[in-house]
Amino acid sequence: MRPQPSYRGRFAPSPSGHLHFGSLITALASFLDAKKNNGTWLVRIEDIDPPREKIGASEHILKTLEAFGLHWDETVLFQSKQSDYYFQVIKELFKEGHCYYCSCTRKQIKTIGGIYQGHCRSLNIEKSNSAIRVINNHGIYQYHDLIQGNIKCEQALAEEDFIIFRKDGLFAYQLAVVADDIYQNISHVIRGCDLLEPTARQLSFYPLLENIQLNNFQLKNSPPTFGHIPLVVTEQGYKLSKQNKAPAIDNSNPQPALMAALTLLGQQPPKELISENVNEIIKWAINHWQIDMVPKKREIQLT
Ligand code: GLU
Ligand code: ZN
Repeated sequence: MRPQPSYRGRFAPSPSGHLHFGSLITALASFLDAKKNNGTWLVRIEDIDPPREKIGASEHILKTLEAFGLHWDETVLFQSKQSDYYFQVIKELFKEGHCYYCSCTRKQIKTIGGIYQGHCRSLNIEKSNSAIRVINNHGIYQYHDLIQGNIKCEQALAEEDFIIFRKDGLFAYQLAVVADDIYQNISHVIRGCDLLEPTARQLSFYPLLENIQLNNFQLKNSPPTFGHIPLVVTEQGYKLSKQNKAPAIDNSNPQPALMAALTLLGQQPPKELISENVNEIIKWAINHWQIDMVPKKREIQLT
């Protein structure tokens, strides 16, 4: 029997802005679930999209996590430092015949209904100005989510040959996230419901990486367990996001936001806890964390 892998969780923000309340909840949930399970909790900065990056955002995110008592184990991994590894993965995928260059434009794909139909699969297109897609013959479109239960995604979308390297020369999120979840040996991914559908693609990607041998380690192909927490929306139903200027949270007064986050996550912190220091609140939250209490909804309203 294989030894039971120990729990390794992670929070993986993109530095496209400061941490807002919605991402704080994600960080908190993944931290608490890891710590409740005596696990290791990692932070990975997903800085693979320089045009969308805000200067100073990474530092600010890390400072906020610390101010909220969310202390990570091991060194923070920056995806911008992982390029050699990603290129190696792509090279191996080519060797195994699992990917190909694609020169189709977004407009062309839109005219055929928005879902890519594998047009360039057998065209042997040249490298320049092309994206790279994986051959996704066994797209997974159903999976069990630790929080939301059985998830069914749109099959056609789940079976699409998705992009792992962009035309503009940047690594695609799907490649980097799966490559690094493997690299960091992540066993559990707790994150927001905006990633419910992309999870299907990530699950489809693991089997393609099965036989790939990199310098010193074999990529293991068992995907992590996924759990998706509801997205926090405003009373008007808008998603809190960096885009709609959700307020940055106050690092000098973390208690009220922590209490609100715990309550939204379905935990029931006693009112008096608010006058305790952050470490006491976090200690309470770890001891009392019950993932089953997290609402099984895709959205929850901020009141
Ligand atoms: N970097 C992604 C984001 O901030 C999250 C990636 C993940 O948790 O898998 O939306
Ligand atoms: Zn194409």
